[in-house]
Amino acid sequence: MKARYDIVIVGGGMVGACLACALAPSNLHIAILEFSEPQLTWPEDSVDLRVSAISIASQRIFKAVGAWQHMVSARVSPYREMKVWDSNGKGEIHFDSADIGAAEMGHIIENRVIRAALLKRIADYSNIDFICPASLASWQRDDHIVHLTLSDDTKIQTSLLVGADGSRSQIREQADISHYGWSYHQSGVVAVVETERPHQKTAWQRFLTNGPLAFLPLADGRSSVVWSTTPAAAEQLLSMTDEQFCLKLSAALEERLGAVLTTTQRAAFPLRLQHAEHYVKERVALVGDAAHMIHPLAGQGANLGFLDAACLAEVIHNATQKSNDIGSLKTLRRYERWRKGGNVSMMYTMDGFKRLFGHHMSSAIWLRNTGLSLTNQCKPVKHRLMQQAMGEVGDLPRLAQQII
Ligand SMILES: Cc1cc2nc3c(=O)[nH]c(=O)nc-3n(C[C@H](O)[C@H](O)[C@H](O)COP(=O)(O)OP(=O)(O)OC[C@H]3O[C@@H](n4cnc5c(N)ncnc54)[C@H](O)[C@@H]3O)c2cc1C
Repeated sequence: MKARYDIVIVGGGMVGACLACALAPSNLHIAILEFSEPQLTWPEDSVDLRVSAISIASQRIFKAVGAWQHMVSARVSPYREMKVWDSNGKGEIHFDSADIGAAEMGHIIENRVIRAALLKRIADYSNIDFICPASLASWQRDDHIVHLTLSDDTKIQTSLLVGADGSRSQIREQADISHYGWSYHQSGVVAVVETERPHQKTAWQRFLTNGPLAFLPLADGRSSVVWSTTPAAAEQLLSMTDEQFCLKLSAALEERLGAVLTTTQRAAFPLRLQHAEHYVKERVALVGDAAHMIHPLAGQGANLGFLDAACLAEVIHNATQKSNDIGSLKTLRRYERWRKGGNVSMMYTMDGFKRLFGHHMSSAIWLRNTGLSLTNQCKPVKHRLMQQAMGEVGDLPRLAQQII
């Protein structure tokens, strides 16, 4: 550990680790402070309950930073199609990557695989120190430097402090950056299940009265389930026997994959929308869930975080090329301007979908079923939606533009 770093990233989760990889070639001295030991190995036949649908843009970032190959060597699962339908009506939409000439729409990857691959890549760089377990006790800023004190009383200085410390970000709170948001009064119940029929490399999503149910295809033929529902219903899903849960799931997906045969243990996560008023302050920047948290119904939260990481790295790279101060508000504002619009737009789009599909009024039911059917027939709109989900639109950072 050094006494002075150019950049200190608090939080070595998927987004913090991705940012460090993206910054690594700059030769800046970087420290990541992480308080819990990451899982780097696991039994071959086990699957992480937490998985992410990774967009093509995120895949490009992983390729560009040299972590993708580690993920492929571990386990990734491409998905080519997506079927979405409403439990109240006949509206249905079918996305197929072949329609836009793409091999796949994205990949389903276990969170631990993503994180371990990024940390493996970090280990290749002598200019990055991964300090773990480390806990930040306090920090103060003056005009040019941030002074950090760790809980073991180690003192570190840095020009830029990045909060990649998740939705309850200590950095965001202590930098006095306010945030707004609301609970969805829903929990996301996750499990890994085996089904009677193969998943056909397709992501299946049915909008139920209490929230969406998604089956995401895994490489070993099983599916990862994310079932968003009321906290009370989530409690019930957690406490029922495996047999009861499998029966409930089979019915909830209308047996599109036949019966659900087996399940792992289950876990539930509270769902909320949350957004920081600012992503930056003098010498401080926020990335990932520290800056924004969205409903997981389209699997975009971490993807937005990887774009934050790639954009912040590019802004810092450009500043160092011009010998500008990487921690100044003038530099950091470029990052905020670049990312905020896209993140807010995705956040409210997901919020709108969640609300539209949560309404029980007949007009809302008519509107969403008609919307699904019309969109399914209107190829240009459907293709645009697909490209958006794949992260192919908007002002992409250099790392997300590389040819795969
Ligand atoms: C049910 C569910 C399904 C989802 N599915 C998808 C999906 O399919 N696709 C997708 O893109 N997104 C998905 N998301 C969202 C995604 O999981 C998050 O956006 C992502 O995990 C955020 O990553 P992060 O690195 O910003 O934060 P975190 O994962 O919260 O990581 C923060 C890290 O910081 C560390 N830390 C925190 N505080 C400190 C501190 N003070 N000092 C040191 N270390 C600290 C923590 O230990 C942790 O390692 C889903 C979310 C949920 C709830």
